[in-house]
Amino acid sequence: MQFENSIDFAKKLDEQDSLKHFRDQFYIPIVNGKESIYFTGNSLGLQPKTTQDYVLTELEDWANYGVEGHFHARNPWVSYHEIFPESLANIVGALPEEIVVMNQLTVNLHLLMISFYRPTKKRYKIICEAKAFPSDQYAFQSQALLHGLNPSDVIIEVAPKNGAHCIQTNDILDTIKLHGNETALVIFSGVQYYSGQVFDMKSICKAAHEVGANCGFDLAHAAGNVSLELHDWNVDFACWCSYKYLNSGPGGVSGAFIHQRHIADTNMLRLAGWWGHDKENRFKMEKDFQPIPTAEGWQLSNAPVISMAAHKSSLDIFQEAGFHNILSKGKLLSDYLFFILKDINHSTKNIIEIITPENPTERGCQISMLMLQDGKKIFDALMKEGVIADWREPNVIRIAPVPLYNSFEDVFQFGKIIKGFIEKTN
Ligand SMILES: *Cc1c(COP(=O)(O)O)cnc(C)c1O
Repeated sequence: MQFENSIDFAKKLDEQDSLKHFRDQFYIPIVNGKESIYFTGNSLGLQPKTTQDYVLTELEDWANYGVEGHFHARNPWVSYHEIFPESLANIVGALPEEIVVMNQLTVNLHLLMISFYRPTKKRYKIICEAKAFPSDQYAFQSQALLHGLNPSDVIIEVAPKNGAHCIQTNDILDTIKLHGNETALVIFSGVQYYSGQVFDMKSICKAAHEVGANCGFDLAHAAGNVSLELHDWNVDFACWCSYKYLNSGPGGVSGAFIHQRHIADTNMLRLAGWWGHDKENRFKMEKDFQPIPTAEGWQLSNAPVISMAAHKSSLDIFQEAGFHNILSKGKLLSDYLFFILKDINHSTKNIIEIITPENPTERGCQISMLMLQDGKKIFDALMKEGVIADWREPNVIRIAPVPLYNSFEDVFQFGKIIKGFIEKTN
């Protein structure tokens, strides 16, 4: 499509957008008396207008039934979490029995590493991206310590080559080969939180398996944002949060994936809790853990239903909109943003270095802009004009137009504010 940097063109794209009505299903934060341009759905997705009702339903049932709500609530709490695998299956590309919703993200990362990072004397290394999200770095380090190992012997980071901001797939694959026999686990994010780069998960997983290592992904920035085929890629395990692209509220419940070939392996080591125990005799309260032979067998605690109600409200919107449609619009929004930023660079002097890959298969909604001049001032100007964006030291503005509630006009207006600022100050 031949894009144009004009309000008329942006409005035309909005008119043609089959998902345009979904914006009305979300609360858009108000700044200076008008709707903000909310570009931080990669950090905290917006609240669906239906969420309060979903949560209220559970609060009412709690009020009306007390403990009986476990079995007699409108959505009985004892099985509440069982709602999710079906609706997440196509979002992450998995079979329902491979999915469980439980806990929070970093907790799940630890639980899954307990099962899938089993270092031996010879095979003990973890290969990951340099500058992974800090919580993940801390998790990897503490898992090494838990096994009595020195994190600096264990953790092998793959970094971008000099000056670049993204990591070459070949460098990842070469590193896996290089450390082959000594590698226990290869673990990357699906979408890098800082650069917005989408990793080639399929190739990474294949390379990990070729050297006999397990492979996992942290999909915090990928779930609900890019196309995933966890089952077909043979990924061993993955986890994600629900409050970024999945719009399920601050600190919302997390999702976990464990591949079909592992779920029935009841000998697999794990941290056990009663909610992972065979449902038939869970309430007999007997000793000796018998894990459910699905991803549910990794559950510890009974489900946080109030937080899950928020998750359900959001996933119902995904279902209604169709994930396929969401991905298509996301691509177009991100292409349009890319075009606008390049157009600004073209008509002013290049002050925006886009560090997210231009190749559409290597990016999702997020674009990270390294500001070569006046970064903080431009960011402040954006905030003043009602754009909610994210600032990362030293000079990066991360923005993510999200298909369910952002418009092409949002993208145009964003560009217009930056261009106006540059023209005024130069
Ligand atoms: C957002 C994010 C987290 C946050 O972890 P919580 O346990 O949900 O607080 C962790 N890892 C990555 C890669 C993230 O993007």
